[in-house]
Amino acid sequence: MPTDTHTKILATIGPSSATRQQLSDLLDAGVDGFRVNFSHGTHEEHKQRIKIIRSLEKEKGRLIAILADLQGPKLRVGNFKEDKVLLKEGQKFVLDMNPKLGDETRVCLPHKEIFEAIKPGETLLVNDGYIALRVDKCSKTSMETTVTVGGYISSHKGVNLPNTKLKISAITPKDRDDLKFALKVGVDWVGLSFVQKAEDVRELKKLIDGKARVIAKLEKPSAIDDLENIINEADAVMVARGDLGVECPIQTVPVLQKRIVKLCRQYAKPVIVATQMLESMINNPTPTRAEVSDVATAVYDGADTVMLSAETAAGKYPVNAVKMMHCIIKQVEDDPLFFETMNSTRRIPCKASEADAITFAASELAGVLKNVKAIVSYSSSGFTTFLTARERPSLPILALSPDIKVARQMALVWGVKPYLNKESFKKFSNVEKCAVKYAKATGLASSGDHIIITAGFPLNIKGRTNMLHTVYVE
Ligand code: PGA
Ligand code: MN
Repeated sequence: MPTDTHTKILATIGPSSATRQQLSDLLDAGVDGFRVNFSHGTHEEHKQRIKIIRSLEKEKGRLIAILADLQGPKLRVGNFKEDKVLLKEGQKFVLDMNPKLGDETRVCLPHKEIFEAIKPGETLLVNDGYIALRVDKCSKTSMETTVTVGGYISSHKGVNLPNTKLKISAITPKDRDDLKFALKVGVDWVGLSFVQKAEDVRELKKLIDGKARVIAKLEKPSAIDDLENIINEADAVMVARGDLGVECPIQTVPVLQKRIVKLCRQYAKPVIVATQMLESMINNPTPTRAEVSDVATAVYDGADTVMLSAETAAGKYPVNAVKMMHCIIKQVEDDPLFFETMNSTRRIPCKASEADAITFAASELAGVLKNVKAIVSYSSSGFTTFLTARERPSLPILALSPDIKVARQMALVWGVKPYLNKESFKKFSNVEKCAVKYAKATGLASSGDHIIITAGFPLNIKGRTNMLHTVYVE
């Protein structure tokens, strides 16, 4: 059964995952949420796919998270005359604001902010870091560089500026347009690319106005400099290892991954580990040993979610990739060392609010009592469910929210099985009955078992978790 694991799978959709059958197969293989990547595709394509996902959600009786991933200020060179041009190490190469087609001596770089901020000695990386250019001289409209690492360059290749702090908003006009569309069709999470500071996240939250939650994609050194503030401000974060590995020395990526995952747990914020997890499966039906090990490491680190990019969006074996990911997760979670590690890295919450104390205690109870099968978390905003997941309990967390959007968001949170529950109760005994009903209906508990309930009573008032209860299932 693909939903039997705690760690979640997020799959990027694209041409290899566009039809109803393909999306249905991915869900059956173990996908918990889909990423709609606004760097590719049209609004019409996205709309069709989202419509299919919502209808599959009904068919399968399982809530599915949808992430709208905004492109952000992705920088690109302009067009070349030829298909591609070879830049040789040591040669000079000019980047300017002239829209004329490029050749082996120059190309347009249509971003005036770069010319305003860049200084001699700084580096430009082109095409995922395969080409490196060192800036010798620059003006407001042109810069002369020396090629320090050569290679082929072609139209529209991405540019990264690891050491330059650009004065650009993380939200471009295209992002605003995509965001408006995404909120209209109804997505649950919005991803913000190339976040540089906590303020970028605040700006996006203002635009979203509570209609979705925000995932800050960490892919720039400046984001790492402001890490704690960003994690605190965002609703969740993504270790976006693709661009992160270009902008930071590549060997720092695993170190940063562990640091970010640990901090997110401290702040009770879900964390996604992304990019190149099963990269070779774009073309092959099986992964490399190193890739299997990489997915396993993210799970052992305690990530909420692991993500597939081109593997499911444009690869030849999207379903195999998801199945493989699910198998690796299952194998790790079955290892006694996994929960030993999750347990030994638990901390007494530093904030120590009522909700922190209750969710911490719920996890303690789960470890002590025999025959407990689930933690039922009533949470209208989802906040208490985040806190419960932070404890990484060995029991499934059955999350009940009256808000469909919140419930769908929870599909990407570690260990959470979310359901929509609109009922509110005057008597506490009915809260118990309802929890038992869901625990039985989902097959998590049966007669003779116990369940643990955390809730704020009366129900459906935001920000009030005040009770912890154990119930015998009749
Ligand atoms: P992307 O983000 O796939 O949108 O570039 C993820 C990453 O950079 O790792
Ligand atoms: Mn990226």
